[in-house]
Amino acid sequence: MSLTVTVLGATGSIGRSTADLLAQHDGRFRVGALVGGRDAEALAKLAREMRAEFAALADESAGPALREALAGSGIACGAGESAVLEAAAREADIVVAAVSGAAGLKPTHAALRLGRTIALANKESLVCAGHAFMRDAARYEARLLPVDSEHNALAQALGDGRVSDVAKMTITASGGPFRTWTRERIQAASPSEAAAHPTWSMGMKINIDSASLMNKGLELIEAHHLFAIEPERLDVIVHPQSIVHGLIAWRDGAVTAGLAMPDMRVPIAHCLGLGDRLTIERGRTLDLAAAGSLTFEPADEARFPCLRIARAALSEGGAAPTVMNAANEIAVAAFIRGEIAFYGIADVVERACEHFAAAYRSAPADVDEALAIDAHVRAWSTEALPPVRAA
Ligand code: NDP
Ligand code: MG
Repeated sequence: MSLTVTVLGATGSIGRSTADLLAQHDGRFRVGALVGGRDAEALAKLAREMRAEFAALADESAGPALREALAGSGIACGAGESAVLEAAAREADIVVAAVSGAAGLKPTHAALRLGRTIALANKESLVCAGHAFMRDAARYEARLLPVDSEHNALAQALGDGRVSDVAKMTITASGGPFRTWTRERIQAASPSEAAAHPTWSMGMKINIDSASLMNKGLELIEAHHLFAIEPERLDVIVHPQSIVHGLIAWRDGAVTAGLAMPDMRVPIAHCLGLGDRLTIERGRTLDLAAAGSLTFEPADEARFPCLRIARAALSEGGAAPTVMNAANEIAVAAFIRGEIAFYGIADVVERACEHFAAAYRSAPADVDEALAIDAHVRAWSTEALPPVRAA
């Protein structure tokens, strides 16, 4: 019997890596629903190739284009939020949650409350509403399998071990494209320079977050919720080769680590395998002799203030990560549009965190509350951006 897999964010970077694995293991998997944002043509093409049962786009206005592109295929489709939620709630053995940003919260939660097994790439679900997600995962008996490479490596390194026996969990950062750059050079960096990730191939938003190290900050918050571990036992180390992804130092001094080539298909395959190991065709084998040396260095919070801000939000807890994430999404989009300089991102995020510190203290009780905070902070942050200069 084949397993039905639904992919939320199917046309994105994680979505495509997932599609590649599903195609490689055609007999093992069947494709249930595929969800995209607004690209009707890309989604329709993927749905036809993968023989999906249902395709949904978030952008309601793209509905007619999707229907036209799928005409005669026998694939049902829809557009708008209700169609996305319908896709997320369809019967599936595994739901890959790979929408980018806070837009991923609702569909991911819709699958979670049906007790699905979720391969979670959308880290924002845990950053914005971690308490509610972990509570509801337990309540509805949903399994959350980490796709994020660091967390997947940690889960594998943890094995059957107890988190209470862990002295420290460490996630690695490649350091991004600006690892060796001066502050002045970073401040003048263009969006394409920031998006040029040295080791991973990913979507635009996460590329910029990797350059600012905000991605590592989001991942500390993600790890805190996933493994129910306090901030004090979480750490980040820079490792430019991106081969060691996560390390667990046990209380007796032993360290177990998760290593793999930087290829997101490795953690995705681990999730899709549900305990079995899937072969990855055209995967690169890790050759440590060829790699030669693995190097490590501390993360520099002076040049990468987003990491400091995220650590503070993690320690603060409550709604601080929700606020931080919303401001970051607005600031990163403005940076990509060329409206603010690189350190303008940290500036907007820090101001938003200060501004909302008193207003939003306790952790959002549910997804709706998280999204209400998200919307409020987005509106404020948009206003807080410096005025766009006429060209
Ligand atoms: P991409 O930007 O490449 O893809 C995002 C996907 O989400 C696309 O399919 C996009 O559709 C879809 N989408 C956008 N907005 C909506 C919406 N409102 N409703 C439904 N779907 C929407 O992102 P990535 O694949 O890089 O990242 C996805 C998630 O995985 C993020 O949370 C990221 O942090 C996480 N992640 C990614 C890693 C990577 O290597 N890429 C590594 C670890 C985690 P469309 O194309 O039509 O816009
Ligand atoms: Mg990661």
